[in-house]
Amino acid sequence: MNEFDSERISAILEREGYLKTGQQENAGLIVLNTCSVRLKAEDRLFGHIGNLKALKVKNPGLIICIGGCTAQSLKEKLTDTFPYIDIVFGTGNIEKLPQLIKAKALSAKSICETSENQEEIKELVDFKRSFPFKAFIPVIIGCDNYCSYCIVPYVRGHETSIKPAIVIDSIKKLAADGVCEVMLLGQNVNSYGHDFNQCGAADTVENINSFSKLLNAIAVIEGIKRIRFMTSHPKDLTEDIINAINDNSNIMGHIHLPLQAGSDKILKKMNRKYTSKEYGELFYKIKEKIPHCAVTTDIIVGFPGEEEEDFSKTLELVKTLRFNRAFTFIYSSRRGTAAETFDDPVPIVEKKKWFKQLLDTQNNISLAENTKMTGKIFKALVESESTKKIGQLEGRLENNTIVNFEGPNQLIGRFIDLEISQAHSFYLSGKTI
Ligand code: SAH
Ligand code: SF4
Repeated sequence: MNEFDSERISAILEREGYLKTGQQENAGLIVLNTCSVRLKAEDRLFGHIGNLKALKVKNPGLIICIGGCTAQSLKEKLTDTFPYIDIVFGTGNIEKLPQLIKAKALSAKSICETSENQEEIKELVDFKRSFPFKAFIPVIIGCDNYCSYCIVPYVRGHETSIKPAIVIDSIKKLAADGVCEVMLLGQNVNSYGHDFNQCGAADTVENINSFSKLLNAIAVIEGIKRIRFMTSHPKDLTEDIINAINDNSNIMGHIHLPLQAGSDKILKKMNRKYTSKEYGELFYKIKEKIPHCAVTTDIIVGFPGEEEEDFSKTLELVKTLRFNRAFTFIYSSRRGTAAETFDDPVPIVEKKKWFKQLLDTQNNISLAENTKMTGKIFKALVESESTKKIGQLEGRLENNTIVNFEGPNQLIGRFIDLEISQAHSFYLSGKTI
């Protein structure tokens, strides 16, 4: 979602006549788009803001803007701590940025615009994208789930689905413009359309009021060869969504299904609204219906009150289910969340020990799952030059795994067949055939 917002911010500024520069020293305007999900991201942000002070001293005309979730959450506290910040703008005020820059030119004081009213997204296509052939499409913004550890509902507002007509028309325009892959975004895409039922079906196109109906409608758009989506909350991933993936060959076999914890006591304290048994049943239902479907997950280690016994349940479930990949995080206390007030007696050294154990276990599982793919041929969309190996290209398989291989840059943006030659925990090596 932040990447999408960054693309939007760039586009809005480019429309105003700004150009991108590769060097901070040359910039007349610097925008930092922030994430507040974990403390680490915020700490790094404060380091970056600190570093900008020297630039501002050298070039007093430089305009420094801080946007995104941390801006939404900290508001004036940011300018109180770093008075050389010119503009703080929230997650629902991106369109206003040019206005804010003009207002700042007339004022010596810093400006903070973080009003809670989310702007209505009317257009999803009208800007240059990082990749000409693939696009992020937010379909639902905000979140109403209030998982007890999570700051997102406080910085992204209420769950609001983007009208199906806007989503579908945007994707049709993108397809006509050469986009062949769309990534549908939402904190919980599975609850798409729940809010329409409250405001009346009159707002919907052909009665598209659920995520599966939206998927089926996008799948028939000519030119769209790959549809991806994230994230799926396990409590809302219904059978009709699994069927939509199964019924449409252009909906990719990959579901990101955050588990968060394997202990029911912890899941309850997290307010996740499912048990480990329900999660396991859902996992196997997916695998039974779509055997090639990759399932990836997020796991938090060291949630307040988690004990050795709880952690062991997470580890056991990870060993049983065998995710293709897991993103693991040590619990980080976030301001304003329910869990901020929970007792957290487990020492950080213990949490780090659990974290390492989980990471090592999952890395071995990911490697073993990836090894099953070696010697086989898969279709990849070539995305870019490799970030890992200089001189190589990077392709993405249907199940979202990245493959590094040698080939000419002209392949970027095209589909090719790759034979997998070697597996690693987080990616594969392959060759063109
Ligand atoms: N909407 C998505 C999650 C977005 S945040 C979902 O429900 O899955 C991405 C991931 O960050 C979460 O899945 C969780 O594993 C992690 N996370 C969120 N808050 C956290 C916190 N306070 N400490 C550690 N990890 C956290
Ligand atoms: Fe956060 Fe839970 Fe919403 Fe995901 S579903 S964004 S974890 S509150």
